[in-house]
Amino acid sequence: MSNKTRQIFVISVFPEIIENYIKFGVLKKSQDKSLLQINLINLRDFSKNNGNIDDKPYGGGAGMVLQAQPLIDATRFAKSKLGSHKCIYLSPKGKKIDQKLITDVALNEDLIVIAGRYEGVDQRFIDLEVDEEWSIGDYILSGGEVAACVVIDSVARMIPGVLGNEDSNQDDSFSNSLLEYPHYTRPEEVENLRVPNVLLSGNHEEIKKWRENQALNETKRKRGDLLKKKLS
Ligand code: SAM
Repeated sequence: MSNKTRQIFVISVFPEIIENYIKFGVLKKSQDKSLLQINLINLRDFSKNNGNIDDKPYGGGAGMVLQAQPLIDATRFAKSKLGSHKCIYLSPKGKKIDQKLITDVALNEDLIVIAGRYEGVDQRFIDLEVDEEWSIGDYILSGGEVAACVVIDSVARMIPGVLGNEDSNQDDSFSNSLLEYPHYTRPEEVENLRVPNVLLSGNHEEIKKWRENQALNETKRKRGDLLKKKLS
């Protein structure tokens, strides 16, 4: 694991969407601590045609397609600023991301993340420049910006030093193939529902055992598939 600032370049037609998202919370903290640098590239800046970056699909059909040239130039610019890295095109056709993939990247790799728009991108861009296609789920977004925020946010949380003790990721859902135990805060009673006594006991050993049990039950009840994966 290296101590250098983790770098993420994002290439997008609407970088303003991401610009706002990264100003808050853990993403702000990770940049303030120089543990993460997020570089936003506006695809239109790499147009050779007065800011145009899309055109009609060959063969006909609905919508527009992002052209290869600006995508290739923007991506090569980002690559020229990085050493070892992974170049990701966000796409519903990609591999579905999960906590393991995100953790591996956070610990080991700088990223170039390309957010598509319209009907998608010219296939030749993918063939020439992209290492992997990643999906955030089996549904279609209008653009890759939200998916880029998902990737950046989840990666930032896993960069060593980003989260302090107060918001540690050790018990988070998926960190050990389990869902997290339930949380309670003040007051002790809400509409006749009381906080479990053990959480008020001050007995840390018992609280730990209770939480482990709850995490297991919660996972069995909601996501049996995770337990099967853990045991296989
Ligand atoms: N026509 C494409 C298809 O059917 O596969 C969908 C294009 S979508 C309207 C526009 C862009 O949003 C895509 O190029 C991609 O970057 C992004 N996108 C949409 N859904 C996504 C998902 N589930 N995961 C990651 N990116 C997604």
